[in-house]
Amino acid sequence: MQKQVLTILGATGSIGVSTLDVVARHPEQFEVFALSGHAQVERLAEQCRRFTPRFAVLGAAAEAAQLRALLGPQSVTEVLHGAAALDQVAAAPEVTTVMAAIVGAAGLSSSLAAARAGKRVLLANKEALVMAGEVFIDTVRAAGATLLPIDSEHNAIFQSLPRGFDYGLRHCGVRRIVLTASGGPFRQTPPEALAAMTPQQACAHPNWVMGRKISVDSASMMNKGLEVIEASWLFGLDASRIDVLIHPESVIHSMVDYDDGSMLAQLGNPDMRTPIAHALAYPARIDSGVASLDLTRIGKLSFEAPDLQRFPCLRLAYEALRAGGSAATVLNAANEIAVEAFLAERLRFDQIAQLVERVLANHRVEHLSELEAVIETDARARLEARQIAHSLES
Ligand code: NAD
Ligand code: MG
Repeated sequence: MQKQVLTILGATGSIGVSTLDVVARHPEQFEVFALSGHAQVERLAEQCRRFTPRFAVLGAAAEAAQLRALLGPQSVTEVLHGAAALDQVAAAPEVTTVMAAIVGAAGLSSSLAAARAGKRVLLANKEALVMAGEVFIDTVRAAGATLLPIDSEHNAIFQSLPRGFDYGLRHCGVRRIVLTASGGPFRQTPPEALAAMTPQQACAHPNWVMGRKISVDSASMMNKGLEVIEASWLFGLDASRIDVLIHPESVIHSMVDYDDGSMLAQLGNPDMRTPIAHALAYPARIDSGVASLDLTRIGKLSFEAPDLQRFPCLRLAYEALRAGGSAATVLNAANEIAVEAFLAERLRFDQIAQLVERVLANHRVEHLSELEAVIETDARARLEARQIAHSLES
């Protein structure tokens, strides 16, 4: 395999750290060109010392100055800051591969910049695809970029599809896809107790260690909802052909149900280094540091249908997908505001769904084929969500 030159956007986060763990196992195959972290200066400094990237990018000038001071004048790493610098390191001509692992809408511009530059885009930043699905997929196609899913469910489906399916499954004999979900920390919490759940309880996921935003999304099952929308864009399927199945052990990462009754699945220990290594090396296979599954130890796998009353966020995401156009943009924006307010203890857990539902109910769906329209819709939905959050708080 030819050496890949990497930009890792969101290097200091959970996915970023797992990516560098895999990269460090294969120094002959990967070279790190740029790393970004928003405000975690110390962690980014350690990563820069270890991987000696050409560029490091932080959110603001003050953090960039701190990083320069920590690295010292001898460092080979040039320190930049701000959103334009993220776009620049994502699209730089030296780069072959971009790991898009910034959380939330903040990752849209740089993920798109990588796609526009025709890179191999390893997409963890699902919010980018949810808020700007059509623009994103059109950009990937027009630029001839390669889009490889990092989200474990989508990576599992990708692995269970015929090679070269070209992001549209109509001709591959696929009946439907089934996204598995652990059900999160509140799968068995009595519904009347959900309102009182704290950020700390929401972030204590039974199987995965992740960033705080996706942890809250997993607790509300909005994460699965975002993943249903993500899958519809990645694989060209409508809502009626995407099912969700609760599977608390998180061993089967998702499945493809074919016309002949065959169901193909990808299994593995719940460790993001597996999908990351798969996408990094695709179509080859490399060691990820993850042990083989020990099915005798696991013994049993269990399944149940999701409870849409307990998890209204999943219902809202399906509704947004069916409504099409700007509805998913609005769903994502309202959810980001709601999760931020919940983490700051300004909203109760059950108010996340209430807030998203109210913003969606007030929205008139439009078709969004231009980036500017997406950004404008996102900004309007955030403004409205903040106003509604404020009224719910008091
Ligand atoms: P995280 O919170 O651990 O890390 C987020 C990264 O983004 C950090 O490097 C942070 O510095 C950076 N960042 C945050 N705000 C930023 C901003 N405004 N501008 C620029 N950079 C910013 O999150 P994570 O768990 O690593 O998740 C990253 C993405 O991957 C999310 O979209 C998430 O949904 C997706 N994902 C994560 C997992 C997982 O296991 N953690 C699994 C599947 C998908
Ligand atoms: Mg996932």
